[in-house]
Amino acid sequence: MSEICPVCGLPKDLCVCQAIVKEQQRIKIRVEKRKWGREVTIIEGIDEKSIDLHELAAKLKSKLACGGTSKNGKIELQGDHRGRVPELLVEAGFPAENIDVE
Ligand SMILES: [Zn+2]
Repeated sequence: MSEICPVCGLPKDLCVCQAIVKEQQRIKIRVEKRKWGREVTIIEGIDEKSIDLHELAAKLKSKLACGGTSKNGKIELQGDHRGRVPELLVEAGFPAENIDVE
C-alpha cells in the first residue's frame, strides 16, 4: 500500500503537489559578510510550510560539504556557494527561472 497525499488524495507516487509547490517558489540567493569576514550564503523565499527546509538544507550541506542551518524560512550555508547552489536547487526540483542570484 502506498501512502496517500493529504492534499490531493492521490497515492504519494502519483502526487504532484510537491512539484507544483516547488514551481511556485521564488528563491533568492545572496551572500552576507559576517564577523571576521566570514561569508554566509543565504537562500530565502522558500515557503517553509510547504517545503521541508531542514531536509533541503541537509541535502545542500552534504553536496557542498559545508556547515549551515535552516531557520525562519531561510537556509544559511557557510561560505560563498552562489556558484553551485542554483544547480543543486534545480536538481532538487526547483525551476531555474525562479532562482535569483544576487
Ligand atoms: Zn498530493
